[in-house]
Amino acid sequence: MMDWLHHVLFWNQDRFIGIEWGWWKVVGWLGNFVFFARFFVQWYATEKRKQVVVPVAFWWLSLLGSLLLLAYALFSLHNSVIIFSYAFNWIPYVRNLIIHRRHEDAQLKCPACGQICPPKSNFCLKCGVRLGTQEDAARLAAHDSRPAGS
Ligand SMILES: [Zn+2]
Repeated sequence: MMDWLHHVLFWNQDRFIGIEWGWWKVVGWLGNFVFFARFFVQWYATEKRKQVVVPVAFWWLSLLGSLLLLAYALFSLHNSVIIFSYAFNWIPYVRNLIIHRRHEDAQLKCPACGQICPPKSNFCLKCGVRLGTQEDAARLAAHDSRPAGS
């Protein structure tokens, strides 16, 4: 009953959908899918925001996909053209991830409403409360803990 399906998929004994499979082929195709998926992630983020944006997932998918494809090119293809095309692009991907991380760390959380504000903001975007430095926050906390009436 499933003979026709088997015939379509395995039309040549050692092939599946016309492709000769092996572990490195799986790595290579996985790399292709991951690398290709980043375009949909970026497109979706842009449509959602109605503004061109590059989400952090784009850089993670770029990094993972290009490393899988580099491994495939290095250990299975032995093709200098393909090796070269994936040998260096991890550098800007990693750099973007580092800069993103630093930016995240430098963002300020409003103590009053919890809004995440851009680094070095003086005032909260949402409620307008003064966003001081950590010394300011410590001074405020010390002030608040003084007994009433002193
Ligand atoms: Zn606020």
